[in-house]
Amino acid sequence: MNRKTFAKLLLSSPILLSTMTLKELNYLTQSFASTPQMPLLFVGHGNPMNAISNNQYAQEWQKIGQNLPTPSAILCVSAHWETNGTFVTAMQMPQTIHDFGGFPQALFDVQYPAQGSPALATQISQLVTTTNVQPNYDWGLDHGCWSVLKHIYPKNNIPVLQLSLNYNQPLSWHYSLAKELHTLRQKGVLIIGSGNIVHNLGIINWQTNQAYDWAIEANNKIKTLIANDAHQQLIDYTQLGSAVKLAIPTTEHYLPLLYILGLKQKNENISFFNDTIDLGSIAMTSLQIG
Ligand code: ZN
Repeated sequence: MNRKTFAKLLLSSPILLSTMTLKELNYLTQSFASTPQMPLLFVGHGNPMNAISNNQYAQEWQKIGQNLPTPSAILCVSAHWETNGTFVTAMQMPQTIHDFGGFPQALFDVQYPAQGSPALATQISQLVTTTNVQPNYDWGLDHGCWSVLKHIYPKNNIPVLQLSLNYNQPLSWHYSLAKELHTLRQKGVLIIGSGNIVHNLGIINWQTNQAYDWAIEANNKIKTLIANDAHQQLIDYTQLGSAVKLAIPTTEHYLPLLYILGLKQKNENISFFNDTIDLGSIAMTSLQIG
């Protein structure tokens, strides 16, 4: 739908108009304006405690935030929101979800009170045609999203939405779905995938923090494939040998990477940051595209 058709639809629908605040309406019309193409981020989020630490990862996230163009909105694909079907958060004010246990109270006290954007959620639902992206009103922002945004955009003054991971679908489906979100990049929307390239919680090394050999091998192998745009091999990760299999025991932390790669255009630059293995079996490896 182009801007003119949409404006016509709005005017012909008093119900639609009356349920939309003026701010949302402004946002919606502005959001049709083109912007220079926004970069893409894949962020290894790791330990939730990073949200309230000023460690090397947090400092790198802060630097990234200072150097990125200011987005009109952020769409976050987090490892921590898996659903039966595909959903986008559509509430005006998403709650901060503390989706973990056994951490200090200080972490449960963290709030990230960014606005949502029902208008952008509607746009996203319209943009994706190969599957039904349904509005969601009871999720919010999980720690995959806010633990990094707390550092990247500490002022929480940019609207944030989350897109869920449909757990019924294969990896190639997620990679293709991402491509349908492409035009958001030209509307000032920063798309962030938040997960971990190597993520095996079952064998975390709390004692020495020493990276396992297989974790280093898998991290290097995946990074090389990313740098070479070898996306099909990354989708077929089960064919990449035993180190990669150990690195990806379940797909939810890996899938957000495939969204970011699906959105990459051929000649865009890739820069890696936080390229470190934490707690033996968690790669914090992150990348900016464009
Ligand atoms: Zn996680």
